[in-house]
Amino acid sequence: MINRVYAAIRKVSSSKTRAKLSQIAFRYSGKPYVKRIKKDSTLSNPSNSQGTLIFSIDFEMAWAFRFSKRKVDPLKMAQLERSHVPILVTLFEHYDIQVTWATVGHLFLESCKKGDHDWMSRIPYFDDHWKFAAGDWFDHDPYSNYMLNNAWYAPDLIERILNSKVEHEFGCHTFSHIDCSDKNCPPMVLDDELKACVDVASRWGIGLKSFVFPGGTAGNYAILRKHKFGIYRKNDKYDLAYPYLDKENMIVTLSTSSFGRGYDWSADEYITRFVKMIDKAIKTKTAAHIWLHPSVDRWTLDNVIPAVLKYAAEQRDKGLLWIGTMGQIADHINGRSS
Ligand SMILES: [Zn+2]
Ligand SMILES: [Zn+2]
Repeated sequence: MINRVYAAIRKVSSSKTRAKLSQIAFRYSGKPYVKRIKKDSTLSNPSNSQGTLIFSIDFEMAWAFRFSKRKVDPLKMAQLERSHVPILVTLFEHYDIQVTWATVGHLFLESCKKGDHDWMSRIPYFDDHWKFAAGDWFDHDPYSNYMLNNAWYAPDLIERILNSKVEHEFGCHTFSHIDCSDKNCPPMVLDDELKACVDVASRWGIGLKSFVFPGGTAGNYAILRKHKFGIYRKNDKYDLAYPYLDKENMIVTLSTSSFGRGYDWSADEYITRFVKMIDKAIKTKTAAHIWLHPSVDRWTLDNVIPAVLKYAAEQRDKGLLWIGTMGQIADHINGRSS
């Protein structure tokens, strides 16, 4: 029912009307929805806090936008990410909040040359969330280096994240931002992508255990398991849930919402919406998982995100909220730390 309401809102032509209706829908829909999971006694929130909050950032530079149907310029998006990553690092440092950076594997490279990725199986052409209909999947790769083509490599930014006073986690977002769905991605394609990611991250001394599906294209779970991923983020009709085990024995953390200016709301209205998610996670002893792209619009970066982080940090400091990475919550649930 509520999906029909949202679909109707999207059809309204005036952005002001759309904004008003979407606020009303959010206020009265009962959103965010809570998925009730039967918890055994070991599955309490870390540090005995009431609620859990996870932040993840899909770090992808130009790779994510190559086959977009929205006609966005991948190079422009990459430059936005370049300018916003240091701001985000400083901001999360200020509130002492750890983040899972779900990073496209190619960004770990300083350079590459033609032929380097030829061993990888290619995804067949598809027309779905993105449209890939001609040429080779790696045709956009400049086969160059980060000094000359900094939209496709980001060792300098990875260094910046690693050097933060806050100990962030690097997660995986595939090697070249592929569609992972069973429908479009043969298992061997994801298998090769993950091999490439695990290999390149290990050269940085980084072990990958958390995964985020590009564009929400969930699938090929057995391949994730094969590469020892322990947790992944997933879209669902529910917004809040304590992370739970799937059939492959991996942990699922449901995506609650993302930062970004989708509607013409005021900053206060946006902040109130995120505060409501955090409060409900505390009240229902579940987890909220908020994510973003570093290419998020500057208005949100300046006017919404700092206030939400401040509120979250205050709840944490009161002992009501545990904030941590996907890897940490997975370890906690698996009983490897407290
Ligand atoms: Zn390359
Ligand atoms: Zn992505």
